Amino acid sequence: MTDLASHLAKLGTHLARFRETGILNLIDGKDFEGLETFETHSPVDESLICKVAKGMTSDVDAAAKAAKGAFPAWAGMSGAERKKILHKIADLIVERAEEIALCECWDTGQAYRFMSKAALRGAENFRYYADLAPGARDGQSLPTNDHMNVTSRSPIGPVGVITPWNTPFMLSTWKIAPALAAGCTIVHKPAEFSPLTARILAEIAHEAGLPPGVWNLVNGMGEDAGRALTQHPDIKAIAFVGESRTGSMIMKQGADTLKRCHFELGGKNPVVVFDDADLERALDATIFMIYSLNGERCTSSSRLLVQDTIADAFERRLIERVNNIRVGHPLDPTTEVGPLIHKVHYDKVCSYFEVARQDGATVAAGGTAQEGKGWFVKPTLFTHATSSMRISQEEIFGPVLTSIRFKDEDEALRIANDVDYGLTGYVWTNDVSRALRFSDALDAGMIWVNSENVRHLPTPFGGTKASGIGRDGGQWSFDFYMEQKNVAFALGQHKIARLGT
Ligand code: NAD
Repeated sequence: MTDLASHLAKLGTHLARFRETGILNLIDGKDFEGLETFETHSPVDESLICKVAKGMTSDVDAAAKAAKGAFPAWAGMSGAERKKILHKIADLIVERAEEIALCECWDTGQAYRFMSKAALRGAENFRYYADLAPGARDGQSLPTNDHMNVTSRSPIGPVGVITPWNTPFMLSTWKIAPALAAGCTIVHKPAEFSPLTARILAEIAHEAGLPPGVWNLVNGMGEDAGRALTQHPDIKAIAFVGESRTGSMIMKQGADTLKRCHFELGGKNPVVVFDDADLERALDATIFMIYSLNGERCTSSSRLLVQDTIADAFERRLIERVNNIRVGHPLDPTTEVGPLIHKVHYDKVCSYFEVARQDGATVAAGGTAQEGKGWFVKPTLFTHATSSMRISQEEIFGPVLTSIRFKDEDEALRIANDVDYGLTGYVWTNDVSRALRFSDALDAGMIWVNSENVRHLPTPFGGTKASGIGRDGGQWSFDFYMEQKNVAFALGQHKIARLGT
């Protein structure tokens, strides 16, 4: 059997139970069918995967109440106990990593070569925050001559976690692991296009011994289940990953209940290649950061800014490599790019092929959809673009790279910062002063110099401008999921102002 055939056979076994029961909501440790259902289809061949419970306001209400009820005991449990449970979740993720990867590929169209690692990275997220759980409440002592100030942190309460369809498993673990480590309980509303692995993850959590009500799963549409979650008075904060305009809607929806919001939003990230860089490595990184994960990646380097002295040669090599990228079945281990998530998104990505032509850019590679069933597009490169074109400004979120040329450092910086977004930036140069100067002036939350995106969990993750509000990673996640308290103890008889004497 080929690897694809064996993957398909295993996938069939894993999906059988979903076909039978559909994907159910999980509220207060119990399964709920939901009054209505919706269908989830595979982007590979448009076939029906299964039905999914469509959570409505009443389901969100039940989930929020369960999360509120479970909060005191979970928050009061010792950090060491929470640590054990979170490590157990990580162990079970590792045990089921293949099942998770296969389901994720079928549900989202992501290539297996990347998804098998994404499942393991999900486990790492749980391990990392498991180890931080015992110290989550730690504070500082900030003495003055008169007072001993002692700070402490406590979990904010039940939180809503709303996640998108790109690498949904990994991103869910990223938000949920720190929330649980902090002592918060959660209601998770996964994206309607990719519900499979969120259900597996919630099941794993319960199998690991998480008490009922600590983790509640409500599937459904953004405009009903998502909206209800952001408006619920028992939900104290919303951790959201998704599009910038959805973030703005959530902020409005949460205003009446004064929701604390953490937003990880879109990007239009530059990779800036100067002529003194290691061009071979810059080429590899540029290609990897836009064509891996089908380009459906918030941190993708979707704008190439290349110095004009090397642009012809660099783009020539790029075209060769882009035309060589293997588009295919996501469960085939040799596939590098799979189908896009859904017809709606496929139509959006394909619409930019015409936009590029009309705006006067050159379609140097790809620029068409792949024949046959499924939402496949050819890896695409636009050259001779200018910064004002829509293909240089808007998040396309597919395997589509826009190349813009620049003369010097000043022009590169101006173009790099000339977008609404500010998530990541990638700078390639061997001039250390320039690297320091440029990265300092680049308006983005995360910058890699002479590197692709290599995540280190203790570092802050998040964006500036329309790319987000707040940071994840290390203690930054606890800043969001926890309240800070300061208690000042008088050390003696300091002078108190006397009124009315
Ligand atoms: P989306 O904003 O359409 O949906 C994300 C989630 O929000 C889904 O679960 C959806 O149901 C829900 N939602 C939609 N409307 C809502 C509403 N009114 N109230 C509450 N919830 C609502 O995003 P998407 O298309 O699923 O994901 C792609 C986007 O996510 C891209 O813009 C990408 O850049 C971004 N993203 C950002 C990061 C980051 O870390 N910055 C990471 C991954 C993805």
